[in-house]
Amino acid sequence: MTTAVFFDLDLTLLRYTADFETIFDRAVPDAPDGAYDRYLSVFFDAFEDLAVDPYAVGFEAITGEFDIGDDPEALVARYAEAELAATTVPASAREALVRVADRRPTGILTNGAPAVQRAKLERHDLAGVVDAVVVSNDPAVASRKPDSGVFEAAETALPADDYVYVGDTYDEDVVGARDAGWEAYHVGDDGPGDDPAAVESVAEAAARIFGEDDA
Ligand SMILES: [Mg+2]
Repeated sequence: MTTAVFFDLDLTLLRYTADFETIFDRAVPDAPDGAYDRYLSVFFDAFEDLAVDPYAVGFEAITGEFDIGDDPEALVARYAEAELAATTVPASAREALVRVADRRPTGILTNGAPAVQRAKLERHDLAGVVDAVVVSNDPAVASRKPDSGVFEAAETALPADDYVYVGDTYDEDVVGARDAGWEAYHVGDDGPGDDPAAVESVAEAAARIFGEDDA
């Protein structure tokens, strides 16, 4: 029996040192009033519609509607760099991922734009650690958590008998994984606190995956 393990990326393996608005302000200094809110609204609509580059859709909208002295391509590039620069990977999370990847088929399953999610993995030298990377807004996937399609894409990417998912968002990650027939570990503090999936950390999830929780 082979068990494959997939990890969520944002706020499971990655931490952020700045919030969305701060990242936006770094990419678009002196943005006109309302530009950020409009960007965010268009971005999330495009994200949920599975656009391959929701950042471009968002910046195209605000450069058309506000007086911003840059073209959308330049803004997308600056925003991506600002977002990447605001990410960190705790050593404990990296160690846990490497530990699991040494012993199980291991992948990343993430809701996001393929170019940006893959750039985060490259930036933190995580791409080479895992065997598969599945991103919701990749046109070949075109399904986002909690929908089962993205989990099915992960099963196709990494054939195994059983699957485990480790994520921080209860409704997307834990509920989505279970609906797809997967086991789940939950590293976040949303959702019911008494769920047996709850763990304190990615390291604890790895320990439970290896049956070490009573050690
Ligand atoms: Mg997450």
